[in-house]
Amino acid sequence: MAGRVDLDGNPIKPITICMIGAGGFIGSHLCEKLMSETDHAVLAVDVYNDKIKHLLEPASLPWAGRIQFHRINIKNDSRLEGLIKMADLTINLAAICTPADYNTRPLDTIYSNFIDALPVVKYCSENGKRLIHFSTCEVYGKTIGSFLPKDSPLRQDPAYYVLSEDTSPCIFGSIEKQRWSYACAKQLIERLIYAEGAENGLEFTIVRPFNWIGPRMDFIPGIDGPSEGVPRVLACFSNNLLRHEPLKLVDGGQSQRTFVYIKDAIEAVHLMIENPARANGHIFNVGNPNNEVTVRQLAEMMTQVYSKVSGEPPLEVPTIDVSSKEFYGEGYDDSDKRIPDMTIINKQLGTNLLPFLQLKFLIQDIVLTVKFNPVVIIPGWDPKTSLWDLLESTLTYQHRTYAEAIKKATSKPVAS
Ligand code: NAD
Ligand code: UDP
Repeated sequence: MAGRVDLDGNPIKPITICMIGAGGFIGSHLCEKLMSETDHAVLAVDVYNDKIKHLLEPASLPWAGRIQFHRINIKNDSRLEGLIKMADLTINLAAICTPADYNTRPLDTIYSNFIDALPVVKYCSENGKRLIHFSTCEVYGKTIGSFLPKDSPLRQDPAYYVLSEDTSPCIFGSIEKQRWSYACAKQLIERLIYAEGAENGLEFTIVRPFNWIGPRMDFIPGIDGPSEGVPRVLACFSNNLLRHEPLKLVDGGQSQRTFVYIKDAIEAVHLMIENPARANGHIFNVGNPNNEVTVRQLAEMMTQVYSKVSGEPPLEVPTIDVSSKEFYGEGYDDSDKRIPDMTIINKQLGTNLLPFLQLKFLIQDIVLTVKFNPVVIIPGWDPKTSLWDLLESTLTYQHRTYAEAIKKATSKPVAS
């Protein structure tokens, strides 16, 4: 992996990264990327390691020694500061981040996303360490356009719905809509990190993921998670498809989302890690504005894709409507539409054109100028995977990983 350069053509030096929440969905993909494509070392912190077991064992793996797992609950473990001090960079992914928890476990949600993140920010600031903190696109809440009359032509104007890091307001519902406990806690920790940067010089980057999806996201209820658990939409719909049940559309499935493939999104984080001068001090939307669908359209597409990858015919009644109160309980509310503005990430981490190379030779008092390519192109971030393609690879994974287990679980005789 020698010879790799950053977006400005400078050689990349190996660093040590303290990754908190490394055992989760995003963490597992980031660890995989860092082990297989870089020389960086990872101190992987989490309470679980099932999703990164394949990177930790056996000792003969080519990256053995570069990744170390620390089973630590950051709520109450004094070893955390030592690990942050040992590392050059801390990446904090730890959070409760499933919407079903926001209104039913608001205290845990607020503690996890704000209180538990405080020491991480403090240790980074006090020890002069760089921090990449994972926030969420949910800090934008609802779009301005959602407050316009349904038939207003302004609803079609991007100024009323595109979400921009530096100009869009954060619009949440009232306090009894406890759904917003997560967004509000994330917003406050963003403000604290920003203030640490402004007042104490903390080197920080804030990431706002817009619905990253792919293999290993969440759990399948009753198989590798609680039977009554409600994961995020990809796992909910995968579970329905695997069990041949109709997909449940909350409040008609009219909300809109843009989905980005986890492997595309991880490329962006990789660039942030290796281009600190371009990433520090910035908040980045990371999403794919070209992959927008309503939740209903997502359900229809997943039904078609699953039929293709499993070889099973689609259900005759593929979806059913369910109210949000019935599905999530009291206090649920929703973001209507999430289109990320990509201006900042494209400017900071997009394809870089280095100035052209000009070599001058002096041959017998004559200067000979040789111009090579007019520009050297260093490819930057550009999420390319279409929704269909990302669903195809993800549902292939879901089918391969869970179909047999579900068959066994559902064929077990019921105890009399
Ligand atoms: P995840 O739940 O799969 O991963 C979070 C990990 O943090 C889990 O492995 C969990 O065990 C760990 N963790 C939680 N509390 C901890 C504690 N006290 N001590 C140690 N470990 C703890 O979620 P994810 O999808 O990988 O998300 C990672 C981050 O990105 C979160 O901060 C989330 O809010 C943010 N995010 C993700 C998305 C997305 O599309 N996946 C969208 C918006 C925001
Ligand atoms: N949703 C749904 N059926 C499900 C699960 C989720 O209709 O079985 C909807 C949910 O109400 C929301 C969207 O799908 O509008 C995305 O939900 P997710 O849990 O992925 O999180 P969000 O994008 O809201 O953070």
